Amino acid sequence: MKILIFAAHADDLELSMGGTVRRWVDEGYRVDLILLDRPADKSSLIRASTILGYNYIPLGLTRDSLEREVIASIDIDEYDLMVTHWREDYHHVHQRVHRIAKQLARGRSTEVWYMNSHPYRSEYRDFIPNVFVGFDPQQAKAKSMALEVYGNKVRDHWKVEIDLMDAYWSSTSNNKHGQFTEAFMLDRKFI
Ligand SMILES: [Zn+2]
Repeated sequence: MKILIFAAHADDLELSMGGTVRRWVDEGYRVDLILLDRPADKSSLIRASTILGYNYIPLGLTRDSLEREVIASIDIDEYDLMVTHWREDYHHVHQRVHRIAKQLARGRSTEVWYMNSHPYRSEYRDFIPNVFVGFDPQQAKAKSMALEVYGNKVRDHWKVEIDLMDAYWSSTSNNKHGQFTEAFMLDRKFI
């Protein structure tokens, strides 16, 4: 199983799905991260990727964010699953990643999930999760360590809210696979 996380910023994966990624890596899946723009602080990204076990794949473009070039640089057929940002995400770069991801996935067999990019915010337009991934305390610890790499950017009260959210989804989804849970939306496919 090969999984692609296609995100806008270096800490998006850690905030939204750090526990899930650690679990997938523990289970032997390959998890690649592609970012729309070059990360401002690459050394933090590399440290976080080592903690969670994913591979950061730089796009190696001459200029950032050229949609055509980004689409041409990603071999979506290589992946069984792509996780990306939700269309109603309030951050405009996240929305842009969503639109590019939709183009990438069109007509392909790769399954698409959307991550909850702002788990520390209570309002989140139209995000109605239908996929829940549970993880154990060790995987939760890895998530929290990876978040700490980003220092002040991920403020302490976010971390508390993220922990609460993980526990909340665990109880509401009755997840038997762990006491922490991250929530996703599976894209509907019309065949
Ligand atoms: Zn972001």
